[in-house]
This record gives sequence, structure tokens and C-alpha cells, in this order.
Amino acid sequence: MPELYIDGEWVAAAGGRHDVVNPFDASVVTTVDDADETDVDRAVRAARRAFDSGVWSDAPTRHRADLLHRVHRFLLRDKEEIARTETLDTGKTLTEARIDVDDVANCFRYFAEIADKDGGRVLDIGPDVLSRVVHHPVGVCALIAPWNYPLLQASWKVAPALAAGNTFVLKPSETTPLTTLHMIRLIAEAGAPPGVANLVLGPGATVGAAMTSHPEVDLVSFTGGLDTGRRIMAAAADGVKTIALELGGKNPNIVFADADFDAALDYALDAAFLHSGQVCSAGSRLLVEDAVHDRFVAALADRASRIRLGDGLAEGTESGPLSSAEHRAKVEEYLEIGRAEGARVACGGRRPDDPELQRGFFLLPTVFADCDRSMRVVREEIFGPVVTVERFHTEDEAVALANDTRYGLAGGLWTSEASRAQRVANRLRHGTVWINDFHPYVPQAEWGGFGRSGIGRELGPSGLHEYQESKHIYQNLAPAPSGWFKG
Ligand code: NAD
Repeated sequence: MPELYIDGEWVAAAGGRHDVVNPFDASVVTTVDDADETDVDRAVRAARRAFDSGVWSDAPTRHRADLLHRVHRFLLRDKEEIARTETLDTGKTLTEARIDVDDVANCFRYFAEIADKDGGRVLDIGPDVLSRVVHHPVGVCALIAPWNYPLLQASWKVAPALAAGNTFVLKPSETTPLTTLHMIRLIAEAGAPPGVANLVLGPGATVGAAMTSHPEVDLVSFTGGLDTGRRIMAAAADGVKTIALELGGKNPNIVFADADFDAALDYALDAAFLHSGQVCSAGSRLLVEDAVHDRFVAALADRASRIRLGDGLAEGTESGPLSSAEHRAKVEEYLEIGRAEGARVACGGRRPDDPELQRGFFLLPTVFADCDRSMRVVREEIFGPVVTVERFHTEDEAVALANDTRYGLAGGLWTSEASRAQRVANRLRHGTVWINDFHPYVPQAEWGGFGRSGIGRELGPSGLHEYQESKHIYQNLAPAPSGWFKG
């Protein structure tokens, strides 16, 4: 079956095909189409025609919200199939993939619910003026998603883009396209008019680049790595396109000595090793107060060494492999860098011995102790099952270390003192701060980063506004000559 979706039809791609690989055992799950620049051009032009026709952009918001509600229902209907596909594609556990599908469905429901709540603003300027600020869709959106949360990251873009009345061309990562294909089928089943939702598959360097530089694209929304984000910004600059970037993170997780030790320990594992650390908001930089440091690190290494690695589809697996052989090689380079910089390997630091895990792209959960902020393993996003530990003595030092990053996506802190919790949370320069927790997010709250973690916010009301232009309509209700020029 052809796998590009352009102008309401499934069509074959011009660029060839490539294998989708299961990271658990390196087996080929399936092969998929690769688009080329001509496919991208067709998709963008279809999106342009659909947008300009007004079939979607001028439709009542209630009508758009109804479509999103239908997608929400279809996602839950197909939840098991989608979750299994996501596990095959990414290696993550089925439990996590099921949670992802619930989150994706909730995202569609949230934007359906707020779509018609945004009637703009009427300003009180004076008796003879009617002044309104209204919102319009931006236009044709190029949406580019990464491989770690393929469907989730795509939904954070697709749902608000549709709710706001835009049309789009979506490209998932070339390594994890399968659940996105499923979602586009559901959007078609829900009745999206031809050209509103378009899907292209294929490599970023060709297909993605053709999307970001296309003159008919009005907005580029990208989630992925910092270097790619820079390239995309440069490509979008020529057309002065609206741009939204969700990039990487090097997220601190601060444990004060008065924290609930067992809870902080348990969540330090979740923070660092969920989905093998391939999470933009992973708590990959652990900061522990001196008084509990040694006990905490010993317990962390012990628990981390007991994480059960395996097939994401198998009962009892707690964590899967890395996403690809190339990505594991990159993380292994950081393991060497850390050792060379003097970090102490408290656990892991290599591939597992288990014969069952030899074909897949596994690495043992790794705790690098005795780290300091000058080290590359502390400063650079590794995006694997590796946590660095730094020691601190005072609250000021903890805040300084936590903020000493070019990123600023998320951070956590653990303490039993309520006033300190709020004080430190206020001082952290990160887009999300968790107190006595790590990782939860809700579609009602903005997600995004300070610094080089990105530009703009997804989710929450701002997540909808990213896909809207604001327009001020000012009407003089009592027109008369101004008398400004006297001649
Ligand atoms: P990546 O940058 O390699 O690729 C992301 C997407 O961009 C893929 O679809 C890829 O094909 C495409 N792409 C690559 N080069 C391109 C180009 N020149 N032009 C246009 N598109 C191009 O990222 P990845 O390895 O897939 O994902 C991991 C990164 O994503 C990590 O840095 C992670 O922190 C980040 N991430 C951030 C968030 C967030 O919410 N901030 C969420 C998930 C992942």
C-alpha cells in the first residue's frame, strides 16, 4: 500500500523505500516509502490549496473540534494496535507505549475542548471605538517529529494545528514512522477534507529540508536535536517563516538531604532511565546534597544495576534498547569520554552480557559518580541510559549547578521543606519544574524550554496560539476629519 498521504489520497513515493528496524533484535519490521523533493512539493501545494479554499480555515471551530473528538475516540479504539506498533518501532515497553497512546488521545481531546473557547478579546478603548483582537490560523504548517516519542510529539503539533484551522504536511522520523501512518489514517477516517492533513516519509536531510525551505510553508514546528534545530532555523529564515522549536535538554534533578529518601531514589531511576534515557526531559544530571550523597549514589547504582532489560513486548521488561545501532555507538562514545574525564562508573558503562540481548541495541543503565560541571558528560545531552552525579553543599550551590546549562527544558527537586521547594523552583531557569516528582506533564500546561531547549511552547493555551496569527480590528464608530494636516 502506498504510504504518502497527499491531497486526501494514499500515493506512492518517488524516493524509494527503506527498512524499519526493531531495535530489540535488529529484525526488519517492514519497509516504507521515502519521499523526495517532488513529493514534498506536491504535499505542500495540496496543503496550500486546501488552506486558501477556506474549507478548513473558515470552518466553524465547533466543526473542527468535532473532528478532533472523533480522532480521540479512534485512537482509544485502536490503542492496543498502536501501542504494539510503537513498541516494535522504538523498543520502548508496551506499558509505556500504552500510556503514550492515552496521552496522544488526551492531547486531541484537550485541543478539541479549547478550540472554540478562544473568541479573541474586545478592548475598552472608548465610546466611539470598537476594537477587537481576533485569531486566525497561520496557514500551511511543516511539522517535523523525532523518534523517541514518535506519535506523542507529532500529536502535540497536529492537534493544535488542526484546531486552529491550519493545514499541514507532517514528517515523522525516518526510523519510527509507523504509528504516525496510523494516526493519519484515523484523521482521514474522521473526515478531514483533502489537502488538510498530508504525510510525507523519509530522511530529514532531503525530505525535511525540502519542507522547511519550501516557499509556500508559513510555519515550521520541529522537535529534535539542537544541531538540527539550528539548521532548520537557518532554512526557515529566508522566507521569514514562523518557527517553533522543541530541542534537547540536560535536566537537573536536585536531591536535598531532607527529601524522602526512598521516593527521591525511586524517581531518580525513573528520571534517568525511563525509555533508556531517550527522553528530552530525562533527569540526566543528578545533584545530591553532601549529607546523603554517598548513601544515595550507592543505592542508586544498586537499583540501576537491577533494571530488567529486554523485549518491550515481553511481560516484566522494565526498559528496552536504544533506538538504533548508530545511536548506541554515539552513547558509547560518551561512556568513553566520561571515563577519560575521570567520572567513576558506579554501575553499567557497557553492553549487557545476557545472550538474549546481543542482537539488539542495548546498553546497561550507567551511573557516573564524582562528576563536575566542567565535564562534557555533564554538559552535553547524551540521550541514553546515563546519569551523572554531582555533589553540592548549599541551596545556592544547587541552584547554580542546576542552572549551569545551555539548555533549560525541565528540572526536578526533592525536599520536605515547602518554602525551600517554592524558592528553588522559582530560581530554576527551566520550562518545567517538578517538586517531589519527575516527568509528569499535562496537556493543559505549557511544555517547552528556556535557553537552547527551544523557541515557543507546545500544549496549554500557548500550544494553540503557536498556530495562530493575532489580528487587531479597530473600528472608528464616529468618523470625522482628523484635522492633523491643516492645508
Ligand atoms: P533529529 O534532530 O535527528 O531529528 C528530528 C527530526 O528532524 C527527524 O524527523 C529528522 O528526519 C528531521 N531532520 C533531520 N535533519 C533535518 C533537516 N536538515 N531539515 C529538516 N528536518 C530534519 O532528532 P532525533 O534524534 O530524532 O530526536 C532526538 C532529539 O530530540 C533529542 O535532542 C531530544 O532532546 C529532542 N527532543 C526534544 C523534545 C522536546 O519536547 N523538547 C521532545 C522529544 C525529543
